[in-house]
Amino acid sequence: MSLLAVEQLDARHGLLQAVRGVSFALAEGEILALVGANGAGKTTLLRSISGAHRISAGRVLFDGADISAVRASARVRMGIALVPEGRRLFAGMTVEENLTVAGETRRRGHWNLETVLEAFPMLRPLLRRRSGDLSGGQQQAAAIGRALMTNPRVLLLDEVSLGLSPVAVNMVYESLQGVIAGGATIVLVEQDLSRALRIATRVACMLEGRIVLEGKASDMTRERVTEAYFGLRRPDAGSAVS
Ligand code: ATP
Repeated sequence: MSLLAVEQLDARHGLLQAVRGVSFALAEGEILALVGANGAGKTTLLRSISGAHRISAGRVLFDGADISAVRASARVRMGIALVPEGRRLFAGMTVEENLTVAGETRRRGHWNLETVLEAFPMLRPLLRRRSGDLSGGQQQAAAIGRALMTNPRVLLLDEVSLGLSPVAVNMVYESLQGVIAGGATIVLVEQDLSRALRIATRVACMLEGRIVLEGKASDMTRERVTEAYFGLRRPDAGSAVS
């Protein structure tokens, strides 16, 4: 059975329909890379799964249960954690305070302050620093660490590389590889197509709110995904869906 599934999901911003009839299913341990141009609907889809954005049609299923009406805070306790675009740390709080903010409401599991610091060693010397004073890469590491502290069963990562230097991107991904090796289930939005194809087990490409290409990363080529990304694929050309 899939751990996370969305079925015919629609999401709107007022009159604008940002996500249109999106369906996919993810088994435990899979890494789905969501790719697509700016405005394709990736952030809205992730926020819909996390409960931060109310959906207008369709369903979100977690471990077989329909959680479409469950609040975002309850979804965190069920094991769905979102690392939002722009990190959204509490800027006035220290790194340690950001990491431990979930307190006793968090799920039990592998992740605690020590295991997060082992996965993201760059955070150890920064624990007492104000989060607002950190570099983009350090903030991204802290934001992922904060999400891991809730012991998620599914981690939703929006725009991991956005605004980071190439060195910082490499550092964050190196740590993420360790998290993935531990068996994490992840949906990640990544603009860097080559990196997305390397890290993911599945890839879904969104165009104007729809998934226009979805499948195993090992079956994808850069050319195929690029065509879907720009809407150049013919609808009958292979495994295009929706
Ligand atoms: P990006 O890479 O730019 O974040 P995206 O693929 O994540 O793009 P979304 O941010 O989900 O796409 O945006 C999908 C559509 O919804 C776009 O047309 C965008 O302009 C619109 N949109 C997103 N957020 C809002 C909002 N708060 N109010 C109105 N429209 C919005």
